Amino acid sequence: MPERGAALIEVEDLHFAYNANRVLRGIHLTVPRGKLVGILGVSGAGKSTLLRLIGGQLRPQRGRVHFDGRIVHELDDAGLYQLRREIGMMFQAGGLFSDISVYDNIAFPMRELTDLPEEVIHDLVLMKLHAVGLRGASQLMPNELSGGMARRVALARAIALDPVLTMYDEPFAGLDPISLNVIAQLIRRLNDALGATSIVVTYDVPETLKVVDLAYFIHDGVVVASGTPDELRNSPDPAVHQFIHAKPDGPVAFHYPAPAFGNDLRLETPSARS
Ligand code: ADP
Repeated sequence: MPERGAALIEVEDLHFAYNANRVLRGIHLTVPRGKLVGILGVSGAGKSTLLRLIGGQLRPQRGRVHFDGRIVHELDDAGLYQLRREIGMMFQAGGLFSDISVYDNIAFPMRELTDLPEEVIHDLVLMKLHAVGLRGASQLMPNELSGGMARRVALARAIALDPVLTMYDEPFAGLDPISLNVIAQLIRRLNDALGATSIVVTYDVPETLKVVDLAYFIHDGVVVASGTPDELRNSPDPAVHQFIHAKPDGPVAFHYPAPAFGNDLRLETPSARS
């Protein structure tokens, strides 16, 4: 673990519940500057909730998120606005505006959040699109893009304002294997080229472990394993093992809780009563 102060983000004893649903129950993790960090866990583990706490959209019930010297939940409106300027976000669905071109989708945050003149925005938009290999697609509409291309445009938009931190929420979901690999490699390359820091939240373990520097595995509201991809692959934790090796059963049960099968059947079947 890097020493305190070296990290861009430190999450300390973070607790969060939606009413009675205690999703995060004491998360500790560190995101070092310049690194690409994976946050892994099954659907519903609380990964998106953690991103919302880092971005200041939610307030923790206990604990804190340190972001570059600030405590996120103590920020006032101006502080939160500044924080969000420093964070680029890409959501699973991509979230492109369907009625404006690829070009205007990338220009959108620049026009909304900066006073840059249009000529500068023009060149920046083309630079971002070039970085994701889609400069030639700038005049297309979102419905003319393949799923992988749309995800690349969303990626270009997430980095439009050269964020200090880029957070990707399920960036691989629904992609074919080739597009998935392209997106994973792009996330890695953009992080390094921009000298930025990135967080990838995903249930797609094999793809993530190929590109991240460090990953945390969340289960039952806490970090049950962390380390380099190799350390995680060799983790003795049964939930991590189940997840990484995609076993149908383990601490994460295949069966939703149910009464004994025999009690649920109408006919007498001695074998089912066992
Ligand atoms: P993940 O990103 O790991 O799939 P989430 O953070 O989206 O997990 O969700 C964690 C848990 O919190 C789930 O049980 C989900 O149903 C619940 N949850 C998520 N968002 C809300 C919300 N806005 N209101 C109530 N419950 C929510």
